[in-house]
Amino acid sequence: MSDFIVSARKYRPITFNNVVGQLSITTTLKNAIENQKLAHAYLFTGPRGVGKTTCARIFAKTINCFNLDESFDPCNECESCLSFNKNRSYNIHELDAASNNSVEDIRSLIEQVRIPPQVGKYSIYIIDEVHMLSSAAFNAFLKTLEEPPPHVVFILATTEKNKILATILSRCQIFDFNRITVDDSVDFLSKIAIKEKIEVSLEALNVIAQKADGAMRDALSFFDQIVSFSGKKISYQNVIDNLNVLDYDYYFRLTDAFAENDIPRALLIFNSILEKGFDGHHFITGLGEHFRNLLVSKDNKTLELLEVGASIKEKYKKQANNSSVNFLFKALQISSNCDINYKNSRNKRLHIELSLLQMCDILKQKEKQEIIKKIVNEKKEKLENEKIVNEKKENLEDKKIEIKQNEKIEIKKEEEKKPNIKKSKLSTLIKNREEKKLKKISDFEEKNISELEVNKDFSEKDIKNNIEEFANSVKEDTNLNVILKGINPVLKENFLIELNVNSNVAEKRVKEKHNKLLEFFRRNLKNNKIELNIKVVKNIEKTPQKRLSKIDKYNYLKNKNPKISSMKSMFDLGF
Ligand SMILES: [Zn+2]
Repeated sequence: MSDFIVSARKYRPITFNNVVGQLSITTTLKNAIENQKLAHAYLFTGPRGVGKTTCARIFAKTINCFNLDESFDPCNECESCLSFNKNRSYNIHELDAASNNSVEDIRSLIEQVRIPPQVGKYSIYIIDEVHMLSSAAFNAFLKTLEEPPPHVVFILATTEKNKILATILSRCQIFDFNRITVDDSVDFLSKIAIKEKIEVSLEALNVIAQKADGAMRDALSFFDQIVSFSGKKISYQNVIDNLNVLDYDYYFRLTDAFAENDIPRALLIFNSILEKGFDGHHFITGLGEHFRNLLVSKDNKTLELLEVGASIKEKYKKQANNSSVNFLFKALQISSNCDINYKNSRNKRLHIELSLLQMCDILKQKEKQEIIKKIVNEKKEKLENEKIVNEKKENLEDKKIEIKQNEKIEIKKEEEKKPNIKKSKLSTLIKNREEKKLKKISDFEEKNISELEVNKDFSEKDIKNNIEEFANSVKEDTNLNVILKGINPVLKENFLIELNVNSNVAEKRVKEKHNKLLEFFRRNLKNNKIELNIKVVKNIEKTPQKRLSKIDKYNYLKNKNPKISSMKSMFDLGF
């Protein structure tokens, strides 16, 4: 352990190229050196541990190097470089404004500034946490900052730019340092791990980088901490336990519980988190971040916003595929509300538990909506199916009618043949008889006999029944069907049938069927002499009547019942 050097020191970058995650700043600074356009005051702002002081040191070292290489990096060989690398350079002066913030401190600094450097061209003054200077100190400093000696470069560093006076800001070139991304941190840490021969998974490094929250210095010190605890082999679990980080797994399991509407499981998971000593507020912000991560995992375009290791990325992708955007959005809203109101709630545990219950309920609500949707869709489908079935039925009916009509035509044809068969039978019969009787067939006799057989008598009722039957055969033609059924047949002499209809339209419709009707009657009533007469008989009862006067009515009643007249005179009634 004697040679243990803290990684943050051991792996402190010594050229701009080694600086992690601040490419735009290091490029700009290098360009300034290359073009010999140095400002006399710089302000480096940004979160802690992102490389502000490191960049200031590299900058100081570079501008003092005696033989910069072709890419304008310090040589690391000259006297100046060596003294910088061993932290014994006289050209660099660091002042921590947090502890040296008085006017006196600044005055002694101003005295020191006047002295030119013994080695190298520039003296660099790094004033860290410059926002901590008192306003009096600021004012004392202002004049020197505006017109420093030519061998002096001031580099002011701060985490809180907003606390710096505008008069200072306007005299400095300002560089805003970024938080270092998790990817960059992991990258840097894994390089160190390789150099130190430490076996560590990317997931473990990821947790370290996330816990460091963009500060490389913190990431390195966490790394050292875990190495000293776990040795040369670091697992994900080591990191979780050591850094007291809430395992991703809790959030994945909770989300599964929400998806399954499993309230008891969600509450038990939360309980085990509290039992491990985690803070409720920390938990709920972590849960919100989990939903956010799931949301960005839903689309390949936003997947790069996910700052986690490859295997956990897969886990996120999988869970994201199983979660709807709607669910994630609502869960995010709930966790965000919980986060906002956490401080004001009296029963903080209950406050979080309530949010967990709401999250369990999201899918249930959605389920309900989906069930309703499903029912509506099923009904729609059913209606459409019925429609199709009805159409099919109609088609079937049409076909049936067609078949029936065909059958009828065939029957007719057969029946048309029948009389012939009868005739031939009859004729042979007659022939035989005649042969017996006269052995001579008279055409006249034959005709008479056949007529006798085919000219049967029938009644008006028979006609009515036949019309009814015929009407039924044209059922699909409702209009004709009704007309036929309304016919009032009268049987006249010589088998003449009068078909009385009550309108010209009806007459026309029935006349269209004249031949068929005739054929039908002749066949069914077995009488070839039948003739038809279709005519319109206006129904008297249906013709519009003129309004009857009171006298008319009286006369009508009197005709019906003559006693009314005597009653009228008896009671002396008037109209
Ligand atoms: Zn050098």
